[in-house]
Amino acid sequence: MKEAEIRGELDRLFPDPKCELEYENSYQLLVAVILSAQCTDKRVNIVTKELFKNYGKPEKMMTLSQEELEEKIHSCGFFRNKAKNILSMTQDLLEKFDGQVPSDFEKLQSLAGVGRKTANVVIAEAFKGDAIAVDTHVLRVSNRLQLAHTSDPNKCEESLKAVFPSKSWGKLHLQLVHFGRYICKAQKPECDKCPFVQICKK
Ligand code: SF4
Repeated sequence: MKEAEIRGELDRLFPDPKCELEYENSYQLLVAVILSAQCTDKRVNIVTKELFKNYGKPEKMMTLSQEELEEKIHSCGFFRNKAKNILSMTQDLLEKFDGQVPSDFEKLQSLAGVGRKTANVVIAEAFKGDAIAVDTHVLRVSNRLQLAHTSDPNKCEESLKAVFPSKSWGKLHLQLVHFGRYICKAQKPECDKCPFVQICKK
């Protein structure tokens, strides 16, 4: 199956994929992506709906203590680390970039608590740039479809970038996330709905 055919099938399944995290500006997206590690987007949206009412801007977020933020994001799990990362990232953002989220990958990654995946999501989603973020769904699906042969997300990202044209990366990331979330699930994938049976190695 050629890469264009794979994209064609993904377009058929998910013609207009959207990020399921809710946010109103790039800073809020950054916070939501940090919260989404090991947590569902649904849960993150419940938490951020309340959090962003009063703390949806960097200056406002910095009025919270670590303990206060921990309490607000508790249900997302790993709340101590996530609160620490959000406050460090926000402080960095204010000091280095005057509170504006940069659209440059290196600059984004220079923020405390912002890793490769988070930076890629923000670039693709907030700035509509050519970036492909590898989360647990993208990693699993890419290996099953033999688009990558690795458990290392960075290597998986490289493999996907080598296969697909750069203009497709942002949409492809969302399509692979949706495919992994709703069809090619970790447990009990719905193979009867899958157009990729012939190339699947599961
Ligand atoms: S055949 Fe099943 S396991 Fe393989 S890619 Fe499709 S849904 Fe996933």
